[in-house]
Amino acid sequence: AAAFSQSFVDMPRPGRPLQVAVIGAGLAGLSCAKYLSDAGHEPIVLEARDVLGGKVSAWQDKDGDWIETGLHIFFGAYPNVNQMFTELGIRDRLQWKSHSMIFAMPGQQTTDGFQRFSRFEFPDLLPAPLNGLVAILLNTEMLTFPEKIQFGIGLIPAILFGQKYVEECDSLTVTEWMSKQGVPDRVNDEVFIAMAKALNFIDPDNLSMTVVLTALNRFLQETHGSKMAFLDGPPPTRLCQPMADHMLARGGELRMNQRISEILLNDDKTVKGLKMQDGSVVVADAYVSTMPVDVLKLMLPDEWRPIPYFDKLNGLTGVPVINIHMWFDRKLTTVDHLLFSRSPLLSVYADMSLTCKGYRDDEKSMLELVFAPAKDWIGRPDADIIEATMDELYRLFPNELNKDGSGAKLLKSAVVKTPLSVYEATAGRELYRPVQTSPISNFFLAGCFTKQKYLASMEGATFSGKLAAKALADAAAAGTIPLKEAASAVAA
Ligand code: FAD
Repeated sequence: AAAFSQSFVDMPRPGRPLQVAVIGAGLAGLSCAKYLSDAGHEPIVLEARDVLGGKVSAWQDKDGDWIETGLHIFFGAYPNVNQMFTELGIRDRLQWKSHSMIFAMPGQQTTDGFQRFSRFEFPDLLPAPLNGLVAILLNTEMLTFPEKIQFGIGLIPAILFGQKYVEECDSLTVTEWMSKQGVPDRVNDEVFIAMAKALNFIDPDNLSMTVVLTALNRFLQETHGSKMAFLDGPPPTRLCQPMADHMLARGGELRMNQRISEILLNDDKTVKGLKMQDGSVVVADAYVSTMPVDVLKLMLPDEWRPIPYFDKLNGLTGVPVINIHMWFDRKLTTVDHLLFSRSPLLSVYADMSLTCKGYRDDEKSMLELVFAPAKDWIGRPDADIIEATMDELYRLFPNELNKDGSGAKLLKSAVVKTPLSVYEATAGRELYRPVQTSPISNFFLAGCFTKQKYLASMEGATFSGKLAAKALADAAAAGTIPLKEAASAVAA
């Protein structure tokens, strides 16, 4: 990742910097703009909303508390994101947690009445994959020894045939793969329902096995791959703003509240300009869309729709997910980590008053919880969602929360619904993910749904932006992007 970043800085400076309109200021857009500016070009980032970050965006409520679009975890196996923090000089903002994976055991209590957890502890002194194997072998609460062995045998083809096998498994759901490999159903129920919901907000009956194998591969190959970090505060100020500042300092531009409504074409189907919602038109030398795939599909010009590259996008759709915040009048837990809920409605959760310096509170808890699968709940009122979540929390916190109201009190809550979030990684989706270079010479794509090996994640988004910036800068150097006339002459 460091060498890839350096390649932008080392590129020969362009004779005339390209003005590049980057649509969207999520991680893909900001990453693309950053690296374009490193290569000596002039990105103009056009963001529809008044907040940076897209799916990592956050805002303050009337009390000044931060509301986030999603509970976000950074992994050791995110080379480009970690490199971004280094390049921006903000590595200290990543708060790394102990190298463990902690699963809740809903309904089960310790002898003194507290919630029970089951931990996979990765020993610090051992390299990958030994640390992962020891973590799995030492956990005795969730899987029996024969179940672990059967799962291990099921993984042999992945170990022997590597990435090719991982990609072939896209035709199977996690559940189908488990039964094909003779892995007992309990492995699925105990571990992979929680993992599937955490990876893509859907159940293993729907999730592509490629997603799980990709994650396992990274975790088993990289010593710190499964180590997790929380950002120390809201992503827009703690991460996105420094990304924007980097490109602004190098001649880039950021325009907020700029929603594009139409992509205007020349006769040869190249992009002529972007029509904005206020009627104005933005003209650049080249264009990068980082809009979510569902928005992009609506925005495609009719002339592009029959082109296979764009037609393929119809195979991708965003998955619904709900992010919940709950403030309690006292501390519910002392666990400073991400927790896999293993409960029907929830995916993962964390007490952000412990895990995140910026939200620290020594007296009270602020739980952030990912509610998934959310397809049957996304249209329901917030009050129903909170009530259903409370029902799960009574089982997760048997000692702290009581239905009779005698335990901790819920002070307030906030529900953030994202009806179409990251692309739904059901079996067979890999075929539909587009590469960053489109058949249109001055139009490129980025976004976590575009083709890269890190799936729909912050790393995937950041890496896709970097790949699009590279493809564009290379095309500019090769002279394959038609330059616009007047305005660019002024810009030069
Ligand atoms: P987006 O963030 O969607 O950015 C697209 C941008 O385009 C937005 O800013 C949008 O406003 C803008 N836009 C849209 N339409 C227009 C228009 N017409 N004109 C101008 N601008 C427009 N990933 C992890 O790695 N770890 C996690 O723990 C994790 N947890 C998650 C939890 C939740 C609840 C969610 C929703 C996501 C989570 N993710 C996680 C995934 C991660 O957030 C995304 O993969 C990533 O942020 C996507 O970035 P992006 O730039 O591709 O897209």
